[in-house]
Amino acid sequence: MTNNSDHLVRRGWTPDGGQDAILPPHATRWLASRTGLDARPTPVAPDSVLTVPESALSEQARKALGQVVGERHVLTGRDDRLGRAGGLSYLDLLRHRGSGPLAVPDAVVVPEDPAQVQQVVEVCAANDIGLVPFGGGTSVVGGVTALRGDKAAVVVLDLMRLDKLVSVDPVSRLAVLQAGVVAPAAERLLAAHGLTLGHVPQSFERATIGGFAATRSSGQASSGYGRFEDMVEGVRVATPRGEWRLGVSPASAAGPDLRQLVVGSEGAFGVITEVTVRVRELPTVRRYEGFVLDGWEAGAAAVRELAQARVLGDVTRLSDPQETEVAFTMSGGWKTAVVRKYLRARGILEPCLLILGWETTSTEELALRRRATLRVLRRQRPVSLGTAAGESWRHGRFAGPRQRDALMDKGVCVETLETATYWSSLATLRTEVRAALIGSLSAPGRTPIVACHISHAYETGASLYFTTIVPRDLDDPEGQWQRAKAAACEAISDGPLGTISHHHAVGVDHAPYLAREIGDLGTEVLAAVKHTLDPDGVLNPGKLVR
Ligand SMILES: Cc1cc2nc3c(=O)[nH]c(=O)nc-3n(C[C@H](O)[C@H](O)[C@H](O)COP(=O)(O)OP(=O)(O)OC[C@H]3O[C@@H](n4cnc5c(N)ncnc54)[C@H](O)[C@@H]3O)c2cc1C
Repeated sequence: MTNNSDHLVRRGWTPDGGQDAILPPHATRWLASRTGLDARPTPVAPDSVLTVPESALSEQARKALGQVVGERHVLTGRDDRLGRAGGLSYLDLLRHRGSGPLAVPDAVVVPEDPAQVQQVVEVCAANDIGLVPFGGGTSVVGGVTALRGDKAAVVVLDLMRLDKLVSVDPVSRLAVLQAGVVAPAAERLLAAHGLTLGHVPQSFERATIGGFAATRSSGQASSGYGRFEDMVEGVRVATPRGEWRLGVSPASAAGPDLRQLVVGSEGAFGVITEVTVRVRELPTVRRYEGFVLDGWEAGAAAVRELAQARVLGDVTRLSDPQETEVAFTMSGGWKTAVVRKYLRARGILEPCLLILGWETTSTEELALRRRATLRVLRRQRPVSLGTAAGESWRHGRFAGPRQRDALMDKGVCVETLETATYWSSLATLRTEVRAALIGSLSAPGRTPIVACHISHAYETGASLYFTTIVPRDLDDPEGQWQRAKAAACEAISDGPLGTISHHHAVGVDHAPYLAREIGDLGTEVLAAVKHTLDPDGVLNPGKLVR
């Protein structure tokens, strides 16, 4: 079994430790002075305190599933079930550390290929069993929480054995990947053909092709390669009504694009078994650079101007003053003071870090694109920090989840949330969400840090990604975050000012806010699609459509 299915992984990103290097002593001292953290180690409850109810799967259903996938691929052991109990949100991690009850599936079914997935779906429908598709299990919105709903039992369908590159069409630049291929494996398989997908979310190390499609994921290089839905050319889906295949041409006027119904369907309309993706030539030259702009307003204006002039870097990422402060502090004590002095001397009083990255196949093209970007960027008077800052970001791009583990061990409530809106509303939305989070999380002795960045920019608007760090309320750790998240979701949905999710999806956590964004009619359309594809409601109960 892969690491993804390991219960220890549900306790954090780095069950093997090594976090001390990620959160050095100077960072802990800074957090203590900034937030009031007293850095008492927070004990992780022993495994034995976690409650795992008896499996409710009937003998008849177990046999039927075993006949499809082989008995040894129907897992009912404690660790196997715990290993798929929830995703990787802060609340999921807290619960795996003993803070509250976990939704543990009755069994884990591990089919081998699309045909077996189809049969598993049919067995579940015939036996009134809820079925939760599970890719990397990195959902941070409760997407893989094993809710039973009104079903007799609930099983997790783990796609880890669907791990193959099915075919490559180098002429059309297409590849067919099975849904369970983990992102690094997808890149390795494609690199053998001189190709890349270019989809690099922060969850890259664990997330899967099927999960990306099911959640409309967005990678760090989305400005260059597009969001995952831009890469999806075709899908193969197992539904209780039979198999559904979509995608025969790059564009079509044959009615609405039904592929887009599957993309973002979060396992509620079917199990994606294969995805045909658009691929590109593997880049051979890269350049990452750091710049600093003075204040959020100038920074956001710079990103907007780059987007509207269509000269964004493949990676374009702007941190607000709070996130820049965290980034500088984490990167090292004395360096922070030197950088600040250097920036002050150049008139930068509220540093906002901008990372730009270009990845191409020729130095000439890179030079041309970089020049075009910098010509527009100059209008906002950036100060260059050179390639060292860019490379430092690139090397640390997957450090976030590890830092989160280290912070959790030190008793910190640390979580992220994201949204997107049009440029004309961006400043207001950031202000409102910040105010909601700060208002909810502030308490005597606890001062929250609320940091924000733009990492996905468009001609008409951008995403906002918030990170909150505050000492954990040890008396009510779950309630502390639930109240803050609700306050932020209200701020986003009131109006609505922005979307309830730019790339994390709906899951359980955002379901109460979806109707405000798509309207009652939109909710009815989703319910009608669900009813057509999954009349008995066995697919991922409680997600997306209720
Ligand atoms: C530390 C961290 C960083 C993250 N960074 C990013 C980021 O930068 N960008 C981003 O977009 N997201 C990010 N995420 C969120 C998450 O990684 C994405 O939503 C990812 O797309 C989920 O992929 P997965 O394979 O883990 O799916 P899972 O978590 O297993 O599933 C997610 C949802 O999709 C459904 N699903 C999974 N596979 C299938 C399938 N084959 N068929 C049908 N339904 C399926 C599940 O039922 C569930 O509803 C991050 C998460 C973490 C923990």
